[in-house]
Amino acid sequence: MNVIYLDNNATTRTADEAVDAMEAYYRDFYGNPHSAHRLGRRAHEAIEAARREIAEGIGAGLEEIVFTSCGTESNAIAIMTAVAQKKQPRIVVTAVEHPSVLSLVESLVATGRADVDVVSVLPGGAIDLEALDRSLHQPADLLCLMLAQNETGVIHDVAAAARIARAAGTRLLVDAVQAFGKIDVDVEALGADYLSLSGHKFHAPKGVGVLYARRGTPVEPLWHGGGQEAGRRSGTEPVPSIVGLGVAARLAVKSLERAAEVASLRNRLEEGVLETFPSATINGAAQPRLPNTSSISFPSLRADQIVDALDAVGVCVSAGAACHSGAPSASRTMRAMGVDDASAIGTVRFSLSRDTTAAEIDEAIVRIGEVVGSMRRGGEVAAGV
Ligand code: PLP
Repeated sequence: MNVIYLDNNATTRTADEAVDAMEAYYRDFYGNPHSAHRLGRRAHEAIEAARREIAEGIGAGLEEIVFTSCGTESNAIAIMTAVAQKKQPRIVVTAVEHPSVLSLVESLVATGRADVDVVSVLPGGAIDLEALDRSLHQPADLLCLMLAQNETGVIHDVAAAARIARAAGTRLLVDAVQAFGKIDVDVEALGADYLSLSGHKFHAPKGVGVLYARRGTPVEPLWHGGGQEAGRRSGTEPVPSIVGLGVAARLAVKSLERAAEVASLRNRLEEGVLETFPSATINGAAQPRLPNTSSISFPSLRADQIVDALDAVGVCVSAGAACHSGAPSASRTMRAMGVDDASAIGTVRFSLSRDTTAAEIDEAIVRIGEVVGSMRRGGEVAAGV
């Protein structure tokens, strides 16, 4: 049975071109990029070449790019900079941020290190700009706003939020982890002071990320050491991974040409599913969305069971609901969007990539129809609904 991978918002397959480029930096050019000899120089040059790819990819300057280990770390550096710079900073987040933002700010509140305001989203998933405006009437040090939501793919109006933040004198962290390689990401157009990327979401290897920090914007390192990345991120750089990141970034930007094709496959998937299950709903469908993402609620079914059943027939997807000790509960994002519990616990995320084919989508529709159809029949008997 062929595996149909529709979980690209969780992670992507590393591009062959990236793996090929990385190999030499494991086998031959293994010098420390800070060593003075030829192997060191070679590694250093490779890092700088990757920095150029990333900088070009998001419209930034070279010195504004910091290599990190992942999107979680990039978000943490920006947030912890606000904490390091000021006693008890005020941080504003939206209710649908990734746990790398929400869990961190919650821990800052719990330990008395920051004040946090959570701005709501509207039922379709868009940020409530009026609520943001009200929140920023009170001075705030940092606004954390994702460009594209990981569960629904909803794209936020970051430029509008940035204008509000700028007028209020608040710095803006844009979490662009899910957006890069799927839609255009430009730090100037967005008005970002900080911006986070994660390699493994755009066909680079896992364990490498990027923090963009606008020229003149403070960056307090999370830890100290050899002073790599201009003192902003100490630790010997993972040269092969950074090489892979650079190659993947170039491919990601190029693949934007194909975004409309990916969107039409995603739409075909949604139409196929809705045809079979008219009671299913698409979350965030009325909003601008990433071309690759579909969050589908199957009311009265359990997403964790759908994920397992689809896995058994070779379709890899994610549950949009959290599952703790066997009992699923609505994800925070679904709650924030006002999705009712019966739909929220039956929410499944399908996420395509530029490699997804029409044949895979057609086959996925058939397998989803069979699996979810039989669960519904079984569920109707068992649950009596
Ligand atoms: N931000 C968003 C929107 C994400 O979707 C993710 C990962 O799913 C992250 C941040 C964290 O990225 P990483 O896995 O590289 O730590």
